[in-house]
Amino acid sequence: QTTSKPPPLPSPLRFSKFFQSNMRILVTGGAGFIGSHLVDRLMENEKNEVIVVDNYFTGSKDNLKRWIGHPRFELIRHDVTEPLLVEVDQIYHLACPASPIFYKYNPVKTIKTNVIGTLNMLGLAKRVGARILLTSTSEVYGDPLIHPQPESYWGNVNPIGVRSCYDEGKRVAETLMFDYHRQHGIEIRIARIFNTYGPRMNIDDGRVVSNFIAQALRGEALTVQKPGTQTRSFCYVSDMVDGLIRLMEGENTGPINIGNPGEFTMLELAETVKELISPEVEIKMVENTPDDPRQRKPDITKAKELLGWEPKVKLRDGLPLMEEDFRLRLGVPKDNE
Ligand code: NAD
Ligand code: UDP
Ligand code: UDP
Repeated sequence: QTTSKPPPLPSPLRFSKFFQSNMRILVTGGAGFIGSHLVDRLMENEKNEVIVVDNYFTGSKDNLKRWIGHPRFELIRHDVTEPLLVEVDQIYHLACPASPIFYKYNPVKTIKTNVIGTLNMLGLAKRVGARILLTSTSEVYGDPLIHPQPESYWGNVNPIGVRSCYDEGKRVAETLMFDYHRQHGIEIRIARIFNTYGPRMNIDDGRVVSNFIAQALRGEALTVQKPGTQTRSFCYVSDMVDGLIRLMEGENTGPINIGNPGEFTMLELAETVKELISPEVEIKMVENTPDDPRQRKPDITKAKELLGWEPKVKLRDGLPLMEEDFRLRLGVPKDNE
């Protein structure tokens, strides 16, 4: 009574090869911050057709408004925890809330998105023979005991903490990717993304760069969470998108760290935002949340060697670009200061 499945067609790129000359690309989470910048870059290539699926939990149609109605673009409201039937050549799988306040809001849903969502996208990749890229995270290293973090480091992650839905969710997602690769021969790519910033970040999503810029523009004190000596490394979104596309197009499965190795304490970041945007605002120390990693900085040797990639935009150059976008969205023109 078991029906045997038809054999797969010969090439992973068969939709492009047999039915059209275009490359059909699915971007899950494409209405979000990084996803929408990725879509902008993919759409610049006239050979690409882009399908975005997003449930709009943290993303917005507004981020994609320039493409809505474009003949090579399609936007589908869909939750990746449900099966999806589309015919594509490549899958950039980004769907997942990325900011702690959003991923902790419904932790069970965050795990489902990472585990069932990734399983569904892998099932889809298997059925259509597509190459799939997962945006994993530096959080897989947890509160790292090795610094900077190379891809070979297995991490120091609390399995039962409030961040675990995200950290452990992404770790399982990586495992699923490799199991589908080994068991079913799926072509996989894994990017371990470090903190990324730029225009279109959610204004009130609680992440440190968006918080500080919004606070500076609203004339509020910059809230540095204690002790303020914890470090992060911030990558501008255009560099991130460039790294993701190189990884997808290259020959290496990864995981590969994509991030900017410039490392700053949160106090230094606050001082920089204050100096660049609003020298008169105060900096105040506030309580931190549990399990906050004390330090984080990517070792990007692999990205340099295997992808020929390294970030170009320095923090001091990227912050003003984000300031411009936040001023527009918050309605705080520069002249009024
Ligand atoms: P974002 O919240 O702006 O984008 C995520 C998108 O996924 C949103 O549009 C959201 O609506 C959508 N989404 C969430 N759950 C979904 C579901 N179940 N079904 C369909 N869509 C869903 O976040 P971002 O910063 O653009 O992050 C994109 C990816 O990069 C995420 O996978 C995140 O884990 C990863 N990442 C981001 C950073 C960072 O600093 N921004 C760091 C490490 C990893
Ligand atoms: N899946 C999907 N789209 C597809 C093919 C599969 O969403 O085009 C889902 C499917 O519903 C399943 C998951 O991907 O839950 C894993 O699929 P796979 O074929 O690997 O496993 P199986 O269905 O045999 O459990
Ligand atoms: N942080 C801060 N003030 C804020 C928000 C965050 O000092 O208003 C700190 C936070 O304690 C952490 C760092 O900034 O050490 C980065 O936090 P974020 O939530 O942006 O990212 P993640 O912890 O996921 O790296």
